[in-house]
Amino acid sequence: MSVVDPVIELARGLGRTLSSMFERPVTYQYPEQKRPVRPRFRGRHELLRYENGLEKCIGCSLCAAACPADAIFVEAAENTDEARFSPGERYASTYEINMLRCIFCGFCEDACPTEAIVLGDQYELSFSNRREAIYTKEMLLPPVRTQAQTTPRQTPPGIFTRSVPEMKDAHDD
Ligand code: SF4
Ligand code: SF4
Repeated sequence: MSVVDPVIELARGLGRTLSSMFERPVTYQYPEQKRPVRPRFRGRHELLRYENGLEKCIGCSLCAAACPADAIFVEAAENTDEARFSPGERYASTYEINMLRCIFCGFCEDACPTEAIVLGDQYELSFSNRREAIYTKEMLLPPVRTQAQTTPRQTPPGIFTRSVPEMKDAHDD
């Protein structure tokens, strides 16, 4: 090694530093700026509603059966025309996902016959104790757009007669 070699290496290093100062920054200023997720990203679950506000979940527990991590707990109850939550025969009176167990595999989404449970693009999941890691139905359901769309609600008799509803988006009002 000659005496000029360290000087050359130093100059190369400084040159690299200088050139990077003029490159486009790749850093996102999180949380003000959020990086868009990929189309197939699997984030926090949502328990969807139809456009008319009724819940898509019919409490069948197929998602819980498909879950390899045993992270989902579903308890079903009967709908009536006086107090209807979903267009099916039953609805989920309790729906919980334990996020400490979930491995975001998407099996629950694939198993659901009404496309009620989906993994969305929300990735900001944080909790400071085990209780907070259990996401309840109220946390997973999206808000209704108007007060008239809230559940439970009264519906005309004879419209919702199937145990598994056929519609993509129900319109009963
Ligand atoms: S994403 Fe996978 S692990 Fe998580 S709740 Fe659904 S089936 Fe279970
Ligand atoms: S989310 Fe889907 S699979 Fe799970 S209980 Fe509800 S309807 Fe059944």
